[in-house]
Amino acid sequence: SKAPIAIIGTGIAGLSAARTLHDAGQPVHLFDKSRGSGGRMASKRSDAGSLDLGAQYFTARDRRFTDALHQWSAEGWVDQWAPNLYQAREGQLTPSADEQVRWVGTPTMSAITRGLLGELPVTFNCRITEVFRGEQFWTLVDASGASHGPFSQVVVAVPAPQAAALLPSAPKLAAVAASVAMEPTWAVSLGFATPLSTQVEGCFVQDDALDWIARNRSKPGRDGEFDTWVLHGTSNWSRQHLDLSKEAVIERLHGAFAELIDCVVPAPEFTLAHRWLYARPAQAHEWTALADAGLGLYACGDWCLSGRVEGAWLSGQEAARRLLENL
Ligand code: FAD
Ligand code: NAD
Repeated sequence: SKAPIAIIGTGIAGLSAARTLHDAGQPVHLFDKSRGSGGRMASKRSDAGSLDLGAQYFTARDRRFTDALHQWSAEGWVDQWAPNLYQAREGQLTPSADEQVRWVGTPTMSAITRGLLGELPVTFNCRITEVFRGEQFWTLVDASGASHGPFSQVVVAVPAPQAAALLPSAPKLAAVAASVAMEPTWAVSLGFATPLSTQVEGCFVQDDALDWIARNRSKPGRDGEFDTWVLHGTSNWSRQHLDLSKEAVIERLHGAFAELIDCVVPAPEFTLAHRWLYARPAQAHEWTALADAGLGLYACGDWCLSGRVEGAWLSGQEAARRLLENL
């Protein structure tokens, strides 16, 4: 049997590539440093139910992604989310309804990558630190020093700064990845035993600290007894408060939330903070995916395109397409 293709990263980009390669008859093996799939679009299990701390929803502009969404919808992995939308500017909260179709994974964001992963071979809790090529095959080394291989090709599907560290075999690719700046986001979740008395379910915020707030439980299929909310800090605020303690971040964003929302905000029964160091590329790019076809090394991820779920998925599609084209 032939050596499989290694795919590093089980976010939406890595799984987009993995599914296409598998469907084309190519053996794949996936790796992820986390305990499960999804990356920045994973949901977190908590005492207050599952929480979407990263990607909040996604939109589709490309026909290929829309087609995929309809398949995922038929599988029961996604559904539309039509929140009561607001915007907040200069302390003014106003309704901001629109016609945009927005999608979420159901019953959790992770349902999508879990569905795509299916029975594909994967090694979790495995942080890859080195990717090198012998005469014919690739070998991966993980953080514990263990080797994995041989692999025929490698697809690197991790955020740009982490990709750069895995691409020294292809210096040009490594340089492109290293040129991408990625911005952090502080995410906070608050859970209230008594539902807040507001109509707000999602709000685009233009504020020093807050960028977005969402009523997590207003998404289709979400469980949990609490009225859970997710708050995102702006890139600027998050960068300026990168090393603040979780307690202090919760206090600050909770304060900003209480000031903004149009109801009384009691002390939450549940709180949680998560720091996304590489939340989004500082700007969009038009690389779609990176390839050194001669070597058999590919890189994909949201940072090759738009910094959105759709961009990450399209990037994974392109990496797979180019790999198959060069077999
Ligand atoms: P990731 O999801 O980051 O996947 C990379 C995977 O690789 C991870 O699972 C990681 O654990 C793993 N990994 C990394 N390094 C290694 C290593 N060395 N070895 C092994 N595994 C490794 N997009 C939208 O469209 N709509 C939104 O509303 C939205 N909101 C967002 C809010 C936040 C706070 C964040 C953080 C992101 C948001 N995004 C949103 C962006 C969206 O989540 C990403 O664009 C998309 O999920 C990126 O997918 P990816 O596969 O490229 O990368
Ligand atoms: P989208 O079309 O819903 O929103 C794009 C942007 O348009 C919003 O950020 C907002 O500024 C504005 N907007 C849209 N509808 C609005 C309305 N009804 N009222 C007021 N403003 C409105 O979604 P998209 O283009 O798919 O973008 C995905 C979302 O993910 C964006 O909000 C983006 O900021 C967010 N995101 C966040 C991170 C992070 O790290 N925090 C990373 C990637 C993406």
